[in-house]
Amino acid sequence: MAKILSVLYPDPVGGYPPPYARDDIPTITGYPGGQSAPTPEAIDFTPGQLLGCVSGELGLRRFLEGAGHSYVVTSDKEGPDSVLDRELSDTDVVISQPFWPAYLTPERIAAAPRLKLAITAGIGSDHVDLPSAISHGMTVAEVTFSNSISVSEHAVMQILTLVHSYMPAHEWVTTKKGWNIADAVSRAYDIEGMDVGVLGSGRIGQAVLRRLKPFDVRLHYSDVHRLPKEVEEELELTYHPDARSLASSVDVLSIHTPLHPQTLDLFDDELLGAMKRGAYIVNTARALIVNRDAVVRALDSGRLAGYAGDVWYPQPPPPDHPWRTMPHEAMTPHVSGSTLSAQARYAAGVREILECWFAERPIRPEYLIVDGGGLAGAGAHSYTVAG
Ligand code: NAD
Repeated sequence: MAKILSVLYPDPVGGYPPPYARDDIPTITGYPGGQSAPTPEAIDFTPGQLLGCVSGELGLRRFLEGAGHSYVVTSDKEGPDSVLDRELSDTDVVISQPFWPAYLTPERIAAAPRLKLAITAGIGSDHVDLPSAISHGMTVAEVTFSNSISVSEHAVMQILTLVHSYMPAHEWVTTKKGWNIADAVSRAYDIEGMDVGVLGSGRIGQAVLRRLKPFDVRLHYSDVHRLPKEVEEELELTYHPDARSLASSVDVLSIHTPLHPQTLDLFDDELLGAMKRGAYIVNTARALIVNRDAVVRALDSGRLAGYAGDVWYPQPPPPDHPWRTMPHEAMTPHVSGSTLSAQARYAAGVREILECWFAERPIRPEYLIVDGGGLAGAGAHSYTVAG
């Protein structure tokens, strides 16, 4: 029998369960391109309810304990005395969410001799040190596509929020109790006619491009895997061979690559300096793809007209993290991929992965990041590992 440890974000301060705004969520059975939504044998939760926090338990307790496994759920993940560190030594499976990541460092992996499977309840497994996972003989899996559309909607929302200068306008009429039209519109523009690009045209990046098409913008992209010609023609895309060519050509850039050695610290002073004056960046991918202080400098100097996103490092960030107070930002905490709609899908996907694991059935290749001693499946397509 196995020990499963879930590291989930804390319950709402108002208590669990929260009052829900709606009674149900739409049923999504498949994704663009034909991949099916998760297909577990059963679920023990109500779709649309809060599953990603400690009391939500990803809806897994009955299933796991019913099969004789032990299930520990905690949000306590920092420092050597954390529940995460105390429980790791005899844990077989760690489940974590990018929104409240259990950073599985080389030291933690080395301290977990039984650890064989790390599941990301969501997408993006950079919180697991992948080289260590490979040498430890682990499998790393995530629930590919579960929240890709959620994130693409959030990215489009943040592009419009920045360019239309929504945040200052909202502040004038609410916090400041004013009606200061001139102040509120002095940085407001339309995206119509602008050049808008995505770095990374995978599941999320392509969904962003498709959603932006009706806004009558000129669309650009760059990716290590070029899209099929039909897609480029359908969306009237301009392809760029690298991030620099893309970044220097667009008014708005949305980042959608994984964090891996090729993308770590990619947007430094030099690359930000190559962007047009007054460009905007939205980053819902990973914070470490951009240089934290270079972004602040670019906003201060006016090189960037705005920066938005929902990814930070570390998570949670300290109270004095400069992105909390930098100018012209429209930041959220890491929420885009954890809507109640997305939670139902990634909780079902985690259950599907666990069912396969316990029954020794193969996990879908599109869910695999590391397996069999190397990058596998979706991981082999989108990640690299250093040296
Ligand atoms: P995906 O694997 O479908 O697409 C990623 C794309 O990035 C691939 O097409 C890949 O070829 C490309 N890529 C990789 N390295 C590149 C490089 N150096 N230059 C250019 N392109 C590169 O993944 P996805 O589902 O679209 O998700 C992308 C990332 O978004 C995830 O890895 C994760 O970090 C992040 N994400 C964030 C949230 C959130 O809640 N904010 C949720 C889901 C995913």
